[in-house]
Amino acid sequence: MSFRDSISSRPATIRVGRGPHAGVFTIPKALLCNSSAYFKAALNRPFIEGQTQTIHLDDEDPSIFQTYVTWLYQGQLDSQDIEEELDDPQDFGLHIAEVMVFADKRDVRELKNDAISMLLSYLVTHGLASLDTINCVYNMPKSSEIVLLRSVLATDEVWHGHRLDKKIDHWHPEFLAEIIGIYRNFKPTSRRFLESFLNTNPTTVCGFAHKHNVNAPPCSSLVKNTYTPASTPNQQPPSKKCKIEPPTQTVRVLID
Ligand SMILES: [Zn+2]
Repeated sequence: MSFRDSISSRPATIRVGRGPHAGVFTIPKALLCNSSAYFKAALNRPFIEGQTQTIHLDDEDPSIFQTYVTWLYQGQLDSQDIEEELDDPQDFGLHIAEVMVFADKRDVRELKNDAISMLLSYLVTHGLASLDTINCVYNMPKSSEIVLLRSVLATDEVWHGHRLDKKIDHWHPEFLAEIIGIYRNFKPTSRRFLESFLNTNPTTVCGFAHKHNVNAPPCSSLVKNTYTPASTPNQQPPSKKCKIEPPTQTVRVLID
């Protein structure tokens, strides 16, 4: 079915969240079903959801769902549009990580690919991932692409972060364990691993970081989902923030 036909299909209603902050979205059914195996199953089964074309997602965040709906129509993630909607632009990385969680849970495979591309692009531009973003990624099911993303975040932290001596019990234990493994085996580089990774052949990046539907068109996710700040970040450029220094004393204590 073409996109033109999809957006003129019968509508479905999705109620997202609870209480006064809940959102109600009316979306063409075909648009939902073409993007997600979850919605395709829910809207076509002979039970109550399939009959009424209404789905309740009490445990989802309306702002995350809004990003999904916008992605359905635009075919890509628009970083400026997303950032302008956030209460705090510093939460951009966490928002994208939560979009990944949503996409994984609701089986929206191409959204998950695009969110991974956007998060990698954002981190190259903005510097290290926030603690909340890292913990969000480490709480996701360990698919092959999430394992790769975990490795990127941990490698970035080992060689370019200076934060592990602060509130160490707030970091995900598997993140700390991965850092110890990387510290033992990796040599320091003058360039962020993240930048090196993104500058390799895009096909290679796609092979490691994405999982596409069968018969999907050639991947353009890394090109389309590039982070562009809504306004000039009020902080030092990433190149200064990521200056190479030896791993922190805390890491040494951890591995002794
Ligand atoms: Zn791809």
